[in-house]
Amino acid sequence: MQKLILYIFSNHKDFAIEIDNNSKEAELRYIELISIFWNITAKGIELVPIIQMNDEIRTKYNTFVKKYTKEVPRLNRLKSSLDQIKNDEFFFTSNKSSHTPKEILFIGNLIDVHNTTNDDKERAKLFQKKLETQDDFFDNLLAKYNIKVFDTSSKISIGEPNRKNRICRFCKMGEKDGKKFKKKAHAFSEALGNKTIVLNEECDDCNEKFGSNIEKDFIQYLDVYRVFFKVKGKNSIPKLKFNNNAVVSNVEKKDIPENNLEILDDTENLMVVVSQNIEHNKETGDLTVLLESNNKLKEVNIYKTLCKYALSVIDSNELQHFEKTIDWINTNNEQEINLPKIAHLIANHMYVDTPMLSLYIRKDNDYTHPYVVAEFKFKSLIFVYILPFSSKDMQNFIENEKYNLFWKTFKHYDSVKDWVFNNFSDTKEKKYQFRMRMVNNNTNKTE
Ligand SMILES: [Zn+2]
Repeated sequence: MQKLILYIFSNHKDFAIEIDNNSKEAELRYIELISIFWNITAKGIELVPIIQMNDEIRTKYNTFVKKYTKEVPRLNRLKSSLDQIKNDEFFFTSNKSSHTPKEILFIGNLIDVHNTTNDDKERAKLFQKKLETQDDFFDNLLAKYNIKVFDTSSKISIGEPNRKNRICRFCKMGEKDGKKFKKKAHAFSEALGNKTIVLNEECDDCNEKFGSNIEKDFIQYLDVYRVFFKVKGKNSIPKLKFNNNAVVSNVEKKDIPENNLEILDDTENLMVVVSQNIEHNKETGDLTVLLESNNKLKEVNIYKTLCKYALSVIDSNELQHFEKTIDWINTNNEQEINLPKIAHLIANHMYVDTPMLSLYIRKDNDYTHPYVVAEFKFKSLIFVYILPFSSKDMQNFIENEKYNLFWKTFKHYDSVKDWVFNNFSDTKEKKYQFRMRMVNNNTNKTE
């Protein structure tokens, strides 16, 4: 099913709305929405991406939001996002399903130059300058790294097709050693929505082992996101129960009992219901809730799973440089080893429908930069991490100074605000705490 999407980018908060294109009515409503910003003529839609706010637009969106807000409460966020844009200020609209980091930089620059000066010549000059700097970012990065993207929208089988000749990437054994390759091994867990990228070189034993330990912990960690973004896996959408009587689930409004429950978020038909441990910030209207999982997990397994995903898709010639990494993934976490931080971010404008993994593989011998950096995208969530213990690295990137030096080269990340850097070295099994902050006016934030 094709989705109808509208993105608003501005110097304030970005906003995205998605409508299922499942009826004539939905389509008409979408047209009504976009006609606030774009011209609808007999010839079709005249898309005007960069727009200046004025009273006419304001009246139109207020009328639209008022008309449909009961049915679609999320429209209140559209309103508050547009309310922040002052009259005569420029903003950007788009109906693309997702945007690359390069496009986002481009859009940001475009909004900036429009809001800096009214003089067209000045604007062109300024924009040219910004583009050059932007290209420098990518030129520098591309001079240093090869980039490979693995997108689950197409079918790929990685590694040796013939079972008899397969050697498992993780235990280094094949059929001769009594290993079997009968099961379909998914390069990234099927539960996250990957049906298409399959790894031939993972034996049934390793598949089973990873599925029941490290990947299980990672999926549990992502469960909250799975509920939010309705990711379908082998089983249906999970319902989460937390220790403090909090339940997060995909429920309809009518299913919610009225006693002492607070509705934190109500996107179209998804609710987050929480009964306890709510902090309410009276000034901002933000709500913070602490959810503690009933199940225990090891944080290090989150890092291990991310590395396992990367090593599942990487070219087999590269595996020789990651023998220690594979050993580490296979250990039972007997001892805690300091690991580099993992950067993560929730970015609605970089939303992907199915998981995506990108690998940056260093071309030169500049040891101030990690040999392999990976980016894993799951819905609106992005993880950027170093593959540790590579024989092609001379240092471990744990010290802030050294980590920051590498991070600065990845300007397309560095230029985006709101990254969270977390340490996932902990090998102890513990109940996982998830702090969720519901921002009063805009997108959900978690930290
Ligand atoms: Zn194996």
